[in-house]
Formats: sequence, structure tokens, C-alpha cells
Amino acid sequence: MMFASRNLRLCTKDCICLFVCPTGATDTESGQIDASKCLDGCRLCVDACPGGAIHLVPGNYPKPQPKREDVVEALFDLAESKVKTRALAGALGEDHRLARKALDFSLEVLAEDCVREAGYMLPQSAVTKEFLKNLKERYGSDPAFPVEAVERLLDLL
Ligand code: SF4
Ligand code: SF4
Repeated sequence: MMFASRNLRLCTKDCICLFVCPTGATDTESGQIDASKCLDGCRLCVDACPGGAIHLVPGNYPKPQPKREDVVEALFDLAESKVKTRALAGALGEDHRLARKALDFSLEVLAEDCVREAGYMLPQSAVTKEFLKNLKERYGSDPAFPVEAVERLLDLL
């Protein structure tokens, strides 16, 4: 099954998707597309949208390819180093506010890339759960680790 998904940053609210959708699945007021009404991603809205704001996403993502243990370890180490460098970037003073912001964002993206490459595709809730459990196991005893937030997320997933 495929579903239409809207990128609100690209949407200009011209409502063309609203007119072409045969089931009324798209709502430009709330920005939502009702997956229960989407006809297996018929694409009418995707092709009609002038801003390229709608794309199709699969209902079930394929399982990520298994990675070797040593590769996962190396990627986790790399992600950890990005998080630590991010903490150092936070020490840059107000005079370097823009550089700090850019560095902060770039390190966050790099850390996310490492985690994804390690096999944890975060949009999948089962994989996210596994990832959070893994984080708790590794870093749970570190006072800076947000154990309560992670446990809450695990409960909610
Ligand atoms: S057609 Fe595209 S740009 Fe127009 S309202 Fe729909 S999603 Fe937004
Ligand atoms: S893919 Fe088809 S059914 Fe689904 S929201 Fe777009 S136009 Fe409607």
C-alpha cells in the first residue's frame, strides 16, 4: 500500500489537491491527508501539485539490511563523537552565534546519518523502539542521559 504525504514547507495552499482527490482525503486547512481515505496512492494529487509538495510513502517500509556488528559499533562511536563535539560547539560565544548554529545543525545531521547507516531507520516504530532500548542500555547510567524521556517514548511507541 502507498499513501500520499504532504510536505507543509512546500505547500502554497492553492488547494489543487483538494479538487483532484476523488475521495476528499486531503485537507488543506489542517494540512493533513487522511490515510484511511487515500486510494493506494492514486497519484492524482502528486501529479497535480505545482509545488511538488506531495509524494507517496509506502505503508510498510522494507526491513533495513543487517549490518555487521563491528560496522554498527564504529557508526555508534562516530555518532557519539558528533554528540560530544556538539556539546563543545555550544561553548562558542555570542560573537560566533551563526557559526555555532551551523555547526550544531551539521553535527546533528551527521549523527543522524550515522544512526541511520547503522540500520536504524527512525520512521519505523519497531526499529525506533530497538534503537531507544539500545541507547538506554549504552548510556542509561550517564547522568546527562534523558532516561525518563526515553522510557516515556518507549511506553508510547
Ligand atoms: S496542490 Fe500542492 S501546493 Fe496546492 S494545496 Fe495541495 S499540497 Fe499544497
Ligand atoms: S493519492 Fe489519490 S486518493 Fe490519495 S490523497 Fe492523493 S488524490 Fe487522494
